[in-house]
Order: sequence, then structure tokens, then C-alpha cells
Amino acid sequence: MSETTKKGGISVQTEHIFPVIKKWLYSEKDIFLREIVSNAADAVTKLRRLSSLGQYEDNGETYRIDVILDKEAGTLTVSDNGIGMTEEEVDRYICQIALSGALDFIQKYEGDNQSNGIIGHFGLGFYSAFMVSGSVELQTKSYTGAPAVHWVCSDTGDYEISPGKHEGHGTTVIMHVSDEEKEYLDASKLKEILEKYCSFMPVDIYFSDMSEKPDDQKTAEEKPVNDTMPLWLKNPSDCTPEEYKDFYRKVFHDFREPLFWIHINADYPLNFRGILFFPKLTNEYESIEGQVKLYYNQVFVADNIKEVIPEYLLMLKGVLDCPELPLNVSRSYLQNNTYVSKVSAHIVKKVADKLNSLCNTEREEYEKVWSDIRTFVEYACMRDRKFYERVQDSLLLELTDGTFLTTKDYLEAAKEKHENKIYYTSDKAAQAQYISMFSAEGIQISVFEKPLDTQFLSYLESYDPNVKYLRIDADVAGALKGEDAASENTELKELFIKISGNEKLNVSFAALKDAGVPLLLTVSEESRRMEEMMKMYSMSGMGSMGAFPTEETLTVNTASPLIAKLAALEGEKREKTAAYLYRLALLSQRKLTGEELKQFLADGYAILDLI
Ligand code: ADP
Repeated sequence: MSETTKKGGISVQTEHIFPVIKKWLYSEKDIFLREIVSNAADAVTKLRRLSSLGQYEDNGETYRIDVILDKEAGTLTVSDNGIGMTEEEVDRYICQIALSGALDFIQKYEGDNQSNGIIGHFGLGFYSAFMVSGSVELQTKSYTGAPAVHWVCSDTGDYEISPGKHEGHGTTVIMHVSDEEKEYLDASKLKEILEKYCSFMPVDIYFSDMSEKPDDQKTAEEKPVNDTMPLWLKNPSDCTPEEYKDFYRKVFHDFREPLFWIHINADYPLNFRGILFFPKLTNEYESIEGQVKLYYNQVFVADNIKEVIPEYLLMLKGVLDCPELPLNVSRSYLQNNTYVSKVSAHIVKKVADKLNSLCNTEREEYEKVWSDIRTFVEYACMRDRKFYERVQDSLLLELTDGTFLTTKDYLEAAKEKHENKIYYTSDKAAQAQYISMFSAEGIQISVFEKPLDTQFLSYLESYDPNVKYLRIDADVAGALKGEDAASENTELKELFIKISGNEKLNVSFAALKDAGVPLLLTVSEESRRMEEMMKMYSMSGMGSMGAFPTEETLTVNTASPLIAKLAALEGEKREKTAAYLYRLALLSQRKLTGEELKQFLADGYAILDLI
């Protein structure tokens, strides 16, 4: 150790590094604290390792990191009792390696507008302290017992190395916060940054605010700000549901319980861990933007790394710790990275496995959460055929009576009555008449009420064209026809066509099992779906594709005594009654338009007048 002060200058190509560090990354200045605290944590980790290798005797020391704010002095200090540095090491690591690392980093990203694309701005390292500091000081003492070293560097790049002062081994970084960055002398701001970036670092971190406190009260807060053993590092079989829920509440500040979670522990070669939670969404208008926090060896890097999690899983909340992820690269690089796509594929597989295991072994629980996750599952299936193939046996049909069946079980149960046909309702209230008729026949009806559901049905059919999904008003004759033969009445047929105002209306005569319903409308599934699609296109501004006629069939129930009576009526009485019956049929199939409703009421009054 030289007794004299050694001076140096960070020169030549390096001269503009400080101004660049200062003005660059304007929106992500906060990361400087992560960099300095994680260096401190690394210094402790290194010493622990030396101790475990028998190269250092640690006598049961308590390792810790202190983050100390002193507003009056205008300093922020990060202190550790880790490995420390000798003078030579300060020269090598701080003056050379750290500097050239920072330079590389800046040269790589400066000016190419990619700086915003770097995940979490990892890798800027020690010199990021200059984003908020006018000058930075180090006091450090190596664990080897070499004398302490003092290093101080101004934001012009000039530094001085001289004999230092440090109690015990370790390093203290004193950042003299510059006037423009005074916000970093605010305790709540600092705590917020520590919570975001350092919550799970592997060494206890204590925060203390020395500002405006009498000397005898200047002690650190008693509890560390972090949890050094985050839940994701534990063995899943050692974690209780309470622990998962607690973790979720703490990390995501969401006081609703998650529906369920997936603890991933991927070994070599993927080597990453994490916990993904399915959040409870209270209503469908709520944003389904989730939050997946990415960590690198317990150090927070960034939220929502779309490159790692497929877009259709982004509603999940969770943490991923990926020490293998190349972080100091741009996002576009990550998109084509094979490691990243393997991680992503592994996550998808784990999500599918979880759904299957819930369905197979915790069916009751699964049914409880099904309505919450259904939209997500449908969307995910449509986005990723592989995902669909994995979970297809765990897709549930929600039935009108509130029970659930897998598609396979539904088809199995329906084999005798309606092979390969799955009946559904898109509106339980509006289609109540049909539902009660189908139920009376012992036919189970599934519920597909959301706009996405219709698209999903088409997707399922494209996958397995043998199975047809039919809305209950699409197959009246098929499902409800009785044994008796029916005879056609041409007069009535023409009358109904006239009343409907639809020349293309099919009128068929059948004896339905339920004699109580005189007329029922059938709307062809394909043409209705086509019409719905057209509507969606024109609503989404893609222009109208022209009217597409919906194929409708009016089934006249020859088993109904009312139809027999109608056939016997004549003149106005017959017409008015037929019109009224027709609109009743319309009403049980869909909502009437304003004009239809007016006619319906007028016909009703007219009939009452005839009594
Ligand atoms: P990185 O941490 O990625 O190596 P940095 O620029 O942050 O890059 O730090 C450079 C080097 O300086 C570290 O590798 C380490 O050797 C040394 N260093 C920085 N902070 C400390 C510290 N608190 N204790 C001991 N060594 C440190």
C-alpha cells in the first residue's frame, strides 16, 4: 500500500462517460441503487463462499448491508461487511474493469435508440452511481487484512486513491447526491426503490434515515427491508397455501386471494425458478393485465417481460428468477433467443399441467374457479394450438343447471340421444323456453354466453369437425320431434310466410313431443354465426360485407291443440291469431324489435277484442 496519495484521471475515450451516464437513462435512474446494493450483496456472497471453502474463518459473523440516508450531509451510503478490496483490487476492479464495463455498456447502446429496449438496464454497474452523484467515495478493507483504502472520484472522472478508514472488512460507498438529484435524499423514495429492486436479495438490508435525528438515536431500522429466502427458492412441497397467499399479497398488493398458483423449479439446462399466480378478476371490464416480475439471482430486473411469457399468459401475476437469461441485450434479441423460447415453452407446459392436474385430482376446486379462468383458457387455446392439445381433456362445459362436464363426458352421455352434437345456449334468459323444452327431453345444455365463446366454438369445430356445436334454437326438429307423423297444411304455411314478411321462411310441420308449444323457430347455426361475424366486422370498422340472410324455419307443432284450433278458424280471427302465435314464437327465440313489439301488442289487444 502506498503511503502517498495516488491520482488518476479517467481520460481519453472515457472523458465523456460521466455526462453520458448522467443524462442517459433519465427515466431509469432508480436502478443505481440496485447496482450498488447488489454489489454489496455479491461482496457478502463471495465471502460466504470463501468461508464455506475453508479459505476464510468467519466466526459466525452476521452479514448485513446498510443503506444510510443523511440528508444534511447530502449523502447516501451503502455499506457492507463483505469481501472488501485491497488497493490493487480497487485499481483493477473499480478503475479498470468496472469502468470499461460501463463504457462497453454505454457504447453499445448510446445513440442507437435501443437503450429503452434493454431489459432492466442490467450491467451498467458501479458507475451508475454517477447518475445521481456529484462525487462518489469508497472506503474499503479487504478480508485479507490488507490496509483500508479510500477512493474518491468526481464527476469529471478524476479520482484519488489514498489510505482509508474502515472498521472491519467490507466496503462503504458514499454517494454525494448532486443538487439536481435531491429527490434521492428522500427516505420514502429510497424505501420505494429498495422495495422494488432489493426485496429478495440474499443479504439482510437495513435502511436508516440519519437525517435530523439526534446522535444518540441514529440507529438503523430494526427489520431488514428484504426477505433473503424468497418463497420461490423453497421446495414446493415445503410451502403451505398460506405462504403462497401471503407472498402474493405482499408482492402484488392484491388483497383478493389468487385462484391457484404454479411453482416452477426447472433444473438444468433451463435452470430457473418462479411462482405464477392466477389472479381473481372481479369483473370482465377489469384490465386483465397481469404482472410477471423478472429477477436475476434474487435481484429485480423488470416487470412484464413479454419475451419470456407468451402474450396470452400475461394476465398471470408472478415472479421468475432466471439467472441464465441474457439481460444486457436488447428486447428484440431476446425474441429470437432459443433459451428464452425454451423457458417460455416450459412455462406454457407447466400451466397446462396445472390445469390438467386440477381437473383430474381436484375437480371440485377446478369447477369453482372455472368461470374465472374460462375466458383466459379459451383465448390461450385459440392462440396456441399446442396449449389446446395439452388441455383439451380438461376443458369444462358449464351446463344450464350449474354443473360441469368435460367435453368428452358430455359426448359420452349424449351418445344415444344426440351423437356428436353439443347443444348450447348463448342467453339463458332469452332462450328459457327452449331450455325448458330441451331439459324436459333430458338433453344437457352448455352455456356459451360471451362474445369470445362463439369464436371458440368455431375453433373447436375446426379442430374436430365431427363434433358440432348447436345453439338450442338451431335444431328444434332434431332434438324435440316426437314419434307421430305430421301432415302439412298449405294454407297455414302460406299464412305464416305472409305474416313473417320473409318469403324465404321455411315452414315445416312436425309433431313435437311437447304439445304445449304451438310454434317454434329454428335458426340455422351456420347462417346465424355468419351473420354474427358480419356484425362484428362492421362494428370493428372493417366495413359492411352486405346482408347475409339467416336461414329460418318455423316448425308448426301438429301435436298442439292450439294449432288444431287455428286451422279451424277463418278470416280475420285466423289471421290475427296466427300473427299473434308467430310473434310469441319470435319472442321465445329472441328479443323483438320495436316494430315487432308494437305489432305483437296490437295483435294481442285485437285478439282480446274478439273474445
Ligand atoms: P459487476 O458487479 O457486474 O462486476 P460493477 O461495475 O458493479 O460490475 O463492479 C465491478 C467490480 O467492482 C465488481 O466485480 C467487484 O469486484 C468490485 N466491487 C464493486 N462493489 C464492491 C463491493 N461493495 N465490495 C467488493 N467489491 C466490489
